This record gives sequence, structure tokens and C-alpha cells, in this order.
Amino acid sequence: MGKVRFAEQSVFPWGEHIFPVEKYQRCVDHINTVFPSLEITHPQPLPLGAVERVHSATYLERIKGYFKNPEAGVWEFEAPCSVEVYRGVLGAAAGTLSACRDALKQGWGFHIGGGFHHAFPDHGEGFCILNDVAISLAQLLHEGAVSTAAVLDLDVHQGNGTAVCFAQEERVHTISLHQENNYPAWKPPSDLDIGLPDGMEDSAYLEALGKALTWLEKKPRPDLVLFLAGADPFMKDQLGGLALSKKGLRARDDSVGAWCQQRGIPLSVVLAGGYAKETGDVVEIHLSTLESVSL
Ligand SMILES: [Zn+2]
Repeated sequence: MGKVRFAEQSVFPWGEHIFPVEKYQRCVDHINTVFPSLEITHPQPLPLGAVERVHSATYLERIKGYFKNPEAGVWEFEAPCSVEVYRGVLGAAAGTLSACRDALKQGWGFHIGGGFHHAFPDHGEGFCILNDVAISLAQLLHEGAVSTAAVLDLDVHQGNGTAVCFAQEERVHTISLHQENNYPAWKPPSDLDIGLPDGMEDSAYLEALGKALTWLEKKPRPDLVLFLAGADPFMKDQLGGLALSKKGLRARDDSVGAWCQQRGIPLSVVLAGGYAKETGDVVEIHLSTLESVSL
């Protein structure tokens, strides 16, 4: 029985917010009815020191300072930062790490959450407080569970925080395919950045993805690929300006899955962004990703 990870506390109490936190529970409900062979389990808690390996002490202190007045966090994160939100963020990091461990055991892992790639070592932005991707890979490297890894960031927004977290880390290759003319304005370099033009459609996107995978092919084989399967390259996304169809996104996921499977490389997936007006579209795209990688 395949394992999928979900931390209940990672449904952040953000109230009315463009980030549809309800997508998590909707994914869980669908999985329970549509994928009976998958088991949704709570992640193991983060090991001590995992967060501190990536984020500075000054930053972690500043985060705690927001707890008395969570709305003050909006200035930094564009989202409130209460103690409950922070617990959720820790749960999300634990979920991503557990999904990576699942991938190392069962070949693939899936976290219904995570992908907070706009969190830097010393600050957060763009709805991201802690970088679950960086925390997870840094922990696995520290433990010796992997000796190399690749981040394949296919969210519509560039993975600026992850790029900086691993700028000095030669064991992690960071790849970002994103809409060039979109947030973040400053795009610190990943190991490979492919900035895509506005309105790009399925076939051109899949060609660009093929180039990214060819680039990765030439690097030493990673022990794990962490895939940020953002739903925001979708044509109806409110914060994205690419024009992929649901079919195109499924072809994206199938390509990544097949590439890893053919090489015997464990693949771990996190959801990242997705802001279509109809949250049902976002949920459908995420579930299609799950179907693709768990088949
Ligand atoms: Zn995004």
C-alpha cells in the first residue's frame, strides 16, 4: 500500500486568502474515496536542528515576534503569522521530509502540502515562512540518507528561496522552470533557470521541460528528485501567466515520473502553488499529479 503524507495542522488558518488552504482537505477527501490503495499518514516530527540548519537564528526569533500580532506578518509574508500558522509550517516541513523518506523506500513519495520555495535562510515572502524543500534535503544530506539530490521546481514562480538556500551546496542541483515575467522580480540564480514567455502552451512547455531533464541527465545521478508540482502554470490561474491545459500538466507529471522511473531515481512530490478561481481545478490538477506518480 502506497503512503501519502498529510499534516492536519498545515491547513493554515489564513481565513479569506488567495492561497486556497482548503485544497489540502479536499485532496484528502478525494484520495480516501478515489484511491483506496493509498494510505494517508501523518508525517514523523522534524528532527531537532532541522529548521536551524537552513534558517538563521535571527529570522526564527523574528517569526516568533509575530505571534503576538499575527497581522504584522502580512508585511513580510503576505499572510498572517500566528503560532498556529507556524505550527502548520513546521508540519508542512515534516510532511515534505517524510515524503522524501517514503520516496527512498517505495520509489515515490507524495506530500499533500509543502513547496514553500519563496522562504530564504533569513526571511520569508510570497506566502512562504519556512522552506520545507531546503529543510528536508539539508536534513537528508546531514544524515547521509542521500549524498546528492535535485530540486525540480515546476511552479509558475521562480524558486528564489530554494536557489539561495542551496547556492553554496554542490550536492543539490536546483532547477526552476517559471514564467519569466512574474513574481519574484529578483530571481537569484538556480543551477538551471528556464524563464518562459507569457502565454506559453503545452507543447512548448514540454519541450522546455525536456531541455531541463537533458541538463540534469549530464550531472551525476541524484539520489532523489524533489518535484514541486505547482498547479499554477494552469491557463486559468489568477497569479500565473502561462497557458497550460490540465492535459499538458498531466503530460508534465508523466514526463517527470517516467524520467525518474527509467533511471531508478526516487521521486518525491510536493504541491506548491495553485490559484485558479475554482479551487476544484487546483485539486483536480494535484490529484492528477498523484495518480501519475503513484501508478
Ligand atoms: Zn507559485
